[in-house]
Amino acid sequence: MTTAIVLAGGSGSRMNSDKAKQYIEVGGVPLIVYSLRTFQESPVDSIVLVVREGDHEYVQREIVERFGISKVKSIVPGGKERFDSVWAGIQAAVGNDIILSETNDPAPSEDIIMIHDGARPFVSHEMITGSIEAAGKYGACTVAVPVKDTIKVVDKDGFGVDTPDRTTLYQVQTPQTFRASVIIEAHKRFREDPRSGITDDTMLVEEYLKQRVYMVPGDYRNLKVTTPEDIVLTEALGGKDIYSAPSLWMRSIRSRGAE
Ligand code: C5P
Repeated sequence: MTTAIVLAGGSGSRMNSDKAKQYIEVGGVPLIVYSLRTFQESPVDSIVLVVREGDHEYVQREIVERFGISKVKSIVPGGKERFDSVWAGIQAAVGNDIILSETNDPAPSEDIIMIHDGARPFVSHEMITGSIEAAGKYGACTVAVPVKDTIKVVDKDGFGVDTPDRTTLYQVQTPQTFRASVIIEAHKRFREDPRSGITDDTMLVEEYLKQRVYMVPGDYRNLKVTTPEDIVLTEALGGKDIYSAPSLWMRSIRSRGAE
């Protein structure tokens, strides 16, 4: 059983728009619908949609029913921080009995939970199938791409102090995918003993469970819509058919990155 938790519980304040960014129409379709359609047509069994308090009715009518996303099994309110929204999604995905269980393996080990930013319209079929396979094998994985730019560590005075070896650096995207038992345990420990500086779910697994996270090939087009220019990019990339020749495109980018 694989559940995709699609996050749309953020306010999107960097978008400077009256409408939450996940519902802005791009090519005549609300942004969130792009990834929902891809999950609908994927091997994922069900979808949990995490939305802002008060958006439930709109999302049920204007997104789920209007676009026929029948795999959505629940729509739940998110929380203040991204972690709170993910936790709400996990609870809806696996049920409270399992969450409250004291055993180390609270969910059947074959259950998979995939966490995706609803603000990333260009998740692909390949990313989803590759992530399900890797999560089953390694317990935790994320979609990621090698960085193309040189990255500097900068001190507080604005001077570069280190230039890490670029070939070891990856930029992390979503989906991030886990065996259910792994992500439940990581979130439980985080809630008991919250540490600062943790920015995503893979980091929770690394920090609290000391477990390795596998990198599944992502795509530079799998952007997170954050600021207004990202809408222009999304329009230019033009919908879900962009992956008709992904391997060729990826190969050209990868060989450029390796130069
Ligand atoms: O704010 P940011 O772009 O990093 O958010 C990433 C994703 O997490 C978005 O899809 C956003 O809707 C979601 N989110 C959430 N609940 C929050 C904050 C962000 O579901 N409290």
